Amino acid sequence: MNSDVIIIGGGLMGASCALQLSMRGLQCIVLEKDSPGRHASGANAGGLRQLNRDPAEIPLTVEAAKMWRNIEALVDSDCDARFPGQIRLAENKQDLAKLQQRADLVTQLGYHHEEMIGEDELYQLVPTLTPGCVGGLICRQDGYGRPYHTLTAFRRKAESLGAQFISDAKVQSIQQQGESWQINTDQERYSGGVLLNCAGAWANQIAEQLDETVPLEPRALMLMVTERLPHFVDPVLGAASRKLSFKQMQNGTVIIGGAQIAKLDFAREHTEIDWPTMVECAKTVLRFFPQLGDVRIVRAWAGIEAIMPDNIPVIDASQTFANAYHAFGFSAHGYQLSPIIGRIMAGLITDGKTDFPLHPFRINRFQTENA
Ligand SMILES: Cc1cc2nc3c(=O)[nH]c(=O)nc-3n(C[C@H](O)[C@H](O)[C@H](O)COP(=O)(O)OP(=O)(O)OC[C@H]3O[C@@H](n4cnc5c(N)ncnc54)[C@H](O)[C@@H]3O)c2cc1C
Repeated sequence: MNSDVIIIGGGLMGASCALQLSMRGLQCIVLEKDSPGRHASGANAGGLRQLNRDPAEIPLTVEAAKMWRNIEALVDSDCDARFPGQIRLAENKQDLAKLQQRADLVTQLGYHHEEMIGEDELYQLVPTLTPGCVGGLICRQDGYGRPYHTLTAFRRKAESLGAQFISDAKVQSIQQQGESWQINTDQERYSGGVLLNCAGAWANQIAEQLDETVPLEPRALMLMVTERLPHFVDPVLGAASRKLSFKQMQNGTVIIGGAQIAKLDFAREHTEIDWPTMVECAKTVLRFFPQLGDVRIVRAWAGIEAIMPDNIPVIDASQTFANAYHAFGFSAHGYQLSPIIGRIMAGLITDGKTDFPLHPFRINRFQTENA
């Protein structure tokens, strides 16, 4: 089969790129070794967070947040997105000083989406929080959505514009012949003018075939969810000095995580929950909400994510081959960025440029640093 663009990876990045490229009139085939959304994009916590981003990501995350506010216009679904804000809690003066430093940095960079709040406002926003916290850092426009709904909405909209998603199509080999890419999967051969690597935790294997080595590390991140509870909290909560991400969803369940690592057998794509770590994580929740002591955890799961050494992605054209591009390595926070990544990659592919500063995300940054 032949197409203008062949995208490897049917996660959110592949789907967002397929949508934006299809909107610009290009034919896209998305090759997915399992099924769309099978990995990080279907398993994530759904956090829509501008708060505490790496400074390099701020221009992208701010624009992505605008797109999320109007997501229905893009994908014909609201992706169940809600925007009650996200707060990093301060438990003492040291935490407050740390958060103030962060707020000052964001302001110096010319942005105003992160603000300090004092104890009174914190308890107005989260009256059920245990007494003793002293304030926090808030992004009032943040929130959460539903990952799998989102993936499905992006895929369906892209399909309605002509994109084809092909499941059970593991890319085995890639070759450039003249102007065309020849891509062999374990089923069929595909050809296309442009190759786009959105292969998540496997993207370094694709990059390797383009003679580009990247120090990507696959890691399994885990989450747990409680039974349904009466509504008790609106904003998504994290903490200044603890690993925590905590949100009550529309149906009353509470999703709990925060960069908790599961055991991973990457070759078998097998993950196993690390229960002692989850117990510690549950204790952190009880530190802030002791009233949840008798609540049942109904499920825990893990998803395989691409982690980069500097925790920011690769968003770049290939430095070794013409007409090849990369968007991977989202290091546990790609859900929020997904709408803008499609726009950026479509701009690079169709116009050869983008309005966003991509220098920090170049694929050869690790080689340069080691040279
Ligand atoms: C537990 C967890 C919680 C998270 N929470 C959040 C959050 O709250 N907020 C947030 O912003 N982000 C979060 N993330 C991160 C976010 O989910 C990811 O950054 C994002 O989904 C990455 O999307 P992707 O398309 O790059 O990767 P993926 O979704 O992994 O998609 C890549 C796809 O490529 C396919 N593929 C790989 N190799 C090949 C090949 N050779 N041939 C064909 N197909 C191939 C894979 O099968 C996979 O489906 C979380 C991640 C996890 C795991």
